Amino acid sequence: MLPLAVKREPLMKPQKFLALLLCSSMLAPMPAGALAPPDYKQEAIANVDSHTKMVQVMVDTVFSFGEPGFQEFRTSDYLTSILAKNGFKITKGVAGIPTAWTATWGEGGPLIAIGSDEDDLRGVSQIPGDPKVEPIVPGAPGHGEGHNSGVPLVITAALAIKAVMEKHHMKGRLMLWPGIAEELLGSKAYYVREGLFKGVDACIFAHVDSSFATQYGPANNGMVSVEYTFHGKTAHAAADPWDGHSALDAVEIMDVAMNFRREHLPLSQRTHYVITNGGGQPNIVPGVASVWYYFRDYTFDRVKELFDIGNRTADAAAMATDTTVEHHILGFAAPNYGNKPIAELLQSNIEAVGMPKWTPDDQAFAKLVQETQQRKVEPLRDKVTPLRAPRGEDTVPTGGGSDDIGDIMWTVPTVTLRYPANIPNMIGHNVTSAMAMATPIAHKGTVAGAKALALTVLDLMTSPDELTKAKAFFDGDQQKYDHYKPLLTAGDAPAIHVNDDYMRTYRPLMEPYYYDASKYPSYLDQLGIKYPSPPTGPLRKITPPKSFNDTGTGG
Ligand SMILES: [Zn+2]
Repeated sequence: MLPLAVKREPLMKPQKFLALLLCSSMLAPMPAGALAPPDYKQEAIANVDSHTKMVQVMVDTVFSFGEPGFQEFRTSDYLTSILAKNGFKITKGVAGIPTAWTATWGEGGPLIAIGSDEDDLRGVSQIPGDPKVEPIVPGAPGHGEGHNSGVPLVITAALAIKAVMEKHHMKGRLMLWPGIAEELLGSKAYYVREGLFKGVDACIFAHVDSSFATQYGPANNGMVSVEYTFHGKTAHAAADPWDGHSALDAVEIMDVAMNFRREHLPLSQRTHYVITNGGGQPNIVPGVASVWYYFRDYTFDRVKELFDIGNRTADAAAMATDTTVEHHILGFAAPNYGNKPIAELLQSNIEAVGMPKWTPDDQAFAKLVQETQQRKVEPLRDKVTPLRAPRGEDTVPTGGGSDDIGDIMWTVPTVTLRYPANIPNMIGHNVTSAMAMATPIAHKGTVAGAKALALTVLDLMTSPDELTKAKAFFDGDQQKYDHYKPLLTAGDAPAIHVNDDYMRTYRPLMEPYYYDASKYPSYLDQLGIKYPSPPTGPLRKITPPKSFNDTGTGG
């Protein structure tokens, strides 16, 4: 503060100062409603373009790690080490999940969270760039959804945002977060419960797709994932079966009852299960057996009703077999609900960025996969998707998947950015969705997505008005539609054990195939796959590189 007594001469005549201010965008304060200036956006796009090699290396490396839910040890170590090198503060093991983390940077201003999923799927290992079904390691997990591209996209965008903000001395903070165990709907409700998003002004989530798109209003189903474990009594299955109480009988009765019940459930529900423990061997009446259910529907209340039906059916099956039953929640996902003002802003940036420039090779590979896999043949898209309005009030949704981004969507204004890194018409949760995910198609789609994300975050950092509009929509329209009602109880904890044994078996078999970017220009090169026309015969005989030294630190 200046001492009042000191008389100061004006540095410049007022009229001259005013004229200078009016003609100088450098000195003029940004009007409250203004988005990021075009030159800031150009710098962000140029920064992303300068990182295309890094994108390819990250996308290919994470693909090769192929880690399923709660086992993303190498993936998380690798990605956070890149962020740490670039000046982000890393916090590991957040929300009681060993593979979860946050990366933060900046000071003052708004706090914008950006994230994407990391995990893959059991049993869908696939050689990339190969249109035939061929695992890298039979039985091993694989990126049959393309989550390997998500956090690389977010990191690339974050580096561009940070560079622009530093250059122009902008106030603002970034928080990067990973979707751990998204395929298990396993982490984001716990992030919210832990308060990870306290103080966050807006969040953008990136998810792989074949289109470049966003939407607002209600979307994906809510879901609760529950394992029922029945306890009976063992006995010799031939000598004295009457002394046994079969826990497996209870599982089968529950499944049969749920399948009969299906006819009388709303069309919008989705219920599916796997038997995780069916007993030991046939001559022992199973004393313990387990079945794992996903219950999905499009509102919080409907998911709860379905969960209650499941619990009652399990009790009935236990009663019918003189066994007992306990259940554990292994995951939860809120129904999705996208923020309209942020979606509109994101859409304008998606349109400004436009689709990647696909080459004839990219189109040839897409067609080869579609034909080989007998999917509908459709070229890689050349137009972005118009902003999708929400379904009408009188439209009854009829099922579909879930994403636990819903929990964050009901906590802070959030949207999903879908970026074009995969081939149209692939089967979800299937090897076909992995075939392009370490090829130029994935690399280019990730670059395009990173640009749209960077531009939108810069807009949000620059314009308090946009954040006010987003918050007003969140507090108004969204809360009028419904409220956040998670089914997790204080006793529930992240199901970090789920893929433990599985990865103890497969990790050593997968390690020889990790991508070594210091030796090979791409993962396709390392595997000896020619793009876009791999050999027509079997490729299974790919040999691990002899000189590969494993220096990974993950568990
Ligand atoms: Zn996903």
